[in-house]
Amino acid sequence: MDTPPTRLIRLLQLGDTETALRADSIWKCVSCQTCSTRCPKSVDCAAVMDALRQLAFQRGSAAAAERRTVVFQKAFLNNIRRNGRLNEIELIAAFKGEVFFRGRSVPFLFEDAGLAGQLQKRRKLHLRGEKVRDRGVVQRIFERAAGGAQ
Ligand code: SF4
Repeated sequence: MDTPPTRLIRLLQLGDTETALRADSIWKCVSCQTCSTRCPKSVDCAAVMDALRQLAFQRGSAAAAERRTVVFQKAFLNNIRRNGRLNEIELIAAFKGEVFFRGRSVPFLFEDAGLAGQLQKRRKLHLRGEKVRDRGVVQRIFERAAGGAQ
């Protein structure tokens, strides 16, 4: 990471959001929560990283590869919200479709298609997606996570 979480928090405290948004660290963060768990001041650094990614995405300051990270996160969460569990085919279609319509990168659509057979052999790719029975519960979890704002 070019800028560790502690330094990013300090930049934000000083009002230097622009420098924080340009930091490569926000795209290296894997949301493991270690910094949030260990912070002696109880700062939720992982949530700050997530907020910075969203802001960089909204402002269009993220590079193409970084924007894909956010597109994937959104597609993943929408998928879970809709089905209650991951539907891999639906996720791939939503993610690839969105990236294609944003950047029109035809090679990107098919660049990892060769992995489908291996994934299926290892039961990591299910052609028929399943849904949990009570999707209302999932909806309520999402609403609670969003602070009841939805
Ligand atoms: S959440 Fe994990 S990866 Fe992200 S900044 Fe904190 S410690 Fe690093």
